[in-house]
Amino acid sequence: MDFADKRIVVTGGTRGIGRAVTLHFARLGAHITAAYRENEDAARTLAEEAAGLPGSVSTFKSDVATGEGAVALIDAAAEATGGIDILINNAGIIRDCYLPMMSEEDWCAVLHSNVFPLFHCCKWGLRKMLSRRNGAIVNISSIAAFTGTAGQTNYAASKGAIVSFTKALAREAGPFGIRVNAVAPGLIETEMLSGMSREAIDRVTKGSSLGRIGRAEEVAEAVAFLASPSASYITGQCLVVDGGIL
Ligand code: NDP
Repeated sequence: MDFADKRIVVTGGTRGIGRAVTLHFARLGAHITAAYRENEDAARTLAEEAAGLPGSVSTFKSDVATGEGAVALIDAAAEATGGIDILINNAGIIRDCYLPMMSEEDWCAVLHSNVFPLFHCCKWGLRKMLSRRNGAIVNISSIAAFTGTAGQTNYAASKGAIVSFTKALAREAGPFGIRVNAVAPGLIETEMLSGMSREAIDRVTKGSSLGRIGRAEEVAEAVAFLASPSASYITGQCLVVDGGIL
């Protein structure tokens, strides 16, 4: 796959899955703006690692769940690279708790952090993409959207919303040559799972067809496929990347 000189924005692009996506695109020659919220060390390490790659990586500190943060990111990326060809909405959080004990704050935080970035970044990103009548958006959902997970009503609701949002936006953007798809990862080895015990992870992954946890790079491959011309007739879809949990 060739992404030479493609201009790409990856939200949450400095850690975990987003980091793997950023590095994957940079290896294939793209110019990426990777947004993060607060972890400066991760941003610095990513920039250092990307320095020798064929493409380029700029990091940008911005809370993409807010309109101001998203506009700042999209404008900075478009200004630095001359436009936006591909947008990857990956930023997300978890705040797990069984529903009877869940605070309204945790409910709102997850819905806000996982769903609002799609509204803001797609709205402002599309404005940069529409006139070119070409582009791709990939949104990161989760298999929690389909399986549900006890203790994750907030997270599952947010990830289900991402699938529905993707389908609706695909219909709006299709006539302008812009494809919109989602990827639903299963359990992937990142810091997001740090609150999960090894036994709990094993319980889920050992029951999957491949019998193991996934790597962030394996999600990055699927994201790149959907963003590439190889997926030129695919839009409004959600590709499950879970080693056979579903
Ligand atoms: P990590 O916690 O490892 O990384 C999350 C990244 O998102 C960080 O770069 C973080 O920035 C950034 N981020 C979070 N909120 C914001 C925000 N409001 N504005 C800007 N950046 C933000 O998560 P993962 O890599 O594991 O997950 C990435 C995506 O994949 C998420 O949407 C998650 O729901 C989804 N997913 C993950 C799975 C897994 O098993 N890991 C399974 C299924 C889906 P900072 O570093 O500054 O905190």
